[in-house]
Amino acid sequence: MDKVAAAVIGSGFGGLAVAIRLQAAGCRTVIFEKRDQPGGRAYVYRDQGFTFDAGPTVITAPDCLRELFALSGKSMSDYVELLQVHPFYRLFWEDGFVFDYSDDSAAVERQIAGRSPADLRGYQSFLKYSEEVFREGYEKLAHVPFLNWSSMVSVAPQLLRLKAYRSVYSMVAQFIHDPHLRQLFSFHSLLVGGNPFTTTSIYTLIHCLERKWGVFFPKGGTGELVRALLKLFQELGGEVRFDSEVAEILTHGDRVVGIATKRGEREEFNLVASNADVFHTYDRLLRNAPRVRPMRRRLAGMSYSMSLFLIYFGTRRQYPSLQHHNIIFGARYRELLKDIFTRGRLANDFSLYLHAPTRSDPSLAPPGCESFYVLSPVPHLGKLAVDWTVEGPRYASRILRYLERHFIPNLRNEIVTQRIFTPKDFEVELNAHLGSAFSLEPRLMQSAYFRVPNRDRNLTGLYFVGAGTHPGAGIPGVVNSAKATAGLILDDIKAAVGRTPKAEQRLSYA
Ligand SMILES: Cc1cc2nc3c(=O)[nH]c(=O)nc-3n(C[C@H](O)[C@H](O)[C@H](O)COP(=O)(O)OP(=O)(O)OC[C@H]3O[C@@H](n4cnc5c(N)ncnc54)[C@H](O)[C@@H]3O)c2cc1C
Repeated sequence: MDKVAAAVIGSGFGGLAVAIRLQAAGCRTVIFEKRDQPGGRAYVYRDQGFTFDAGPTVITAPDCLRELFALSGKSMSDYVELLQVHPFYRLFWEDGFVFDYSDDSAAVERQIAGRSPADLRGYQSFLKYSEEVFREGYEKLAHVPFLNWSSMVSVAPQLLRLKAYRSVYSMVAQFIHDPHLRQLFSFHSLLVGGNPFTTTSIYTLIHCLERKWGVFFPKGGTGELVRALLKLFQELGGEVRFDSEVAEILTHGDRVVGIATKRGEREEFNLVASNADVFHTYDRLLRNAPRVRPMRRRLAGMSYSMSLFLIYFGTRRQYPSLQHHNIIFGARYRELLKDIFTRGRLANDFSLYLHAPTRSDPSLAPPGCESFYVLSPVPHLGKLAVDWTVEGPRYASRILRYLERHFIPNLRNEIVTQRIFTPKDFEVELNAHLGSAFSLEPRLMQSAYFRVPNRDRNLTGLYFVGAGTHPGAGIPGVVNSAKATAGLILDDIKAAVGRTPKAEQRLSYA
């Protein structure tokens, strides 16, 4: 197997995870990364002693990460320390209602009873439902590739029984009646790019997943987790090339034969696993491969998740009334989400996520200071075509004024460093189609068999890993996609080395 050469395009969590699995199994694996650092959405900015994780901050399901180290007999705790975050989230409403959500059942039930005693029983039933969905949707299916129609048909009875055709919000609303609590128990799908009103109710499994294993934050920031994965990959003998944007996946007939970079290098590989945006991969990197034309057309017609507008900022003082993860609900919920996902309007009101990591790890800011990011979901570029170079600074001021008015008095006077990241940056920096922050929207008809398959159906040696393929966005999602994809690759290699006729068609490694 040591003759097999694999290229991985992109060093997001999915790219790193599949590269580790392939390298650990004996493939010569090279990661090509467009940017100057690994991590993809989990990039890191540093300024004036502040550290800003650009993207993922809520680390759940740590076992899927530990497994990557265990593959080669290592222990993740020797590479990075995971801190427990408690409460998981502090949720704020403009009317002054505050809720600390965590796995402390007594504390959660006390707060529900204080708000809406009639919803206590409904909450317990909702948790039972979420546990069942978790067993079916995560434990059994998250790491299994849905390559053919029959694999989808075989899970249809479970999906029907769990009412996967209904939305997250409608399932929550079946159990819980208070409007604020309905928001509390349905917002999670936004963390993976899904509108709670249209995302399949399978995503209610996130509640169970968080309660089962907890919510974590790597000491030193999410960037330290990325650094740990990269270190592991390099110790295994893997190679990573930064500032190496892939311009084309080279094909010969029905087979992938290598890659060409923007800098003009061409290199042969037996297989390519793309962790880059799925639309970018089919539309740009495979523009000369006629066999993938139908897939390109299909992807152009699919719906993409919303984008995000982010402000990373550091303050010269601290704000103890905040928790590490703060969710701020504005006055509207359903209508605001319609503005974002359907109408393509930049609304005057917001719902925000405010990340305050110095609550867990003071080393991320100079003494007495705090590092933050605030995130506002906004329409993607296909729905809202504003010039973000003009709108960005205006929108940032509006968000900061809003935070100041409702939650953090005098905030703007305390800011010592600030930068923004707009939907246009998602498009330009990350090659994200329409500037989508989470790739394909997690709707039922874009999930499992209906998502981009982990192995291309027309080109031998082409695989996908990351948010656009099964099971979808979020760190547990993309790390599980790597398990599914690496499993397919290694099976294909084994079959090819064994010279079975099927394998000869699929891959030729000799
Ligand atoms: C702001 C934000 C907050 C989030 N918060 C959370 C959270 O708290 N918890 C959670 O679990 N998830 C969260 N998510 C979702 C999660 O971060 C993503 O779903 C996940 O990290 C995506 O990983 P990926 O493997 O798909 O790769 P990506 O992170 O998308 O990386 C893809 C990589 O490919 C590279 N690339 C693209 N094109 C090329 C090319 N042609 N050549 C070479 N390289 C290329 C890019 O530069 C990039 O590095 C968040 C996402 C965002 C944006």
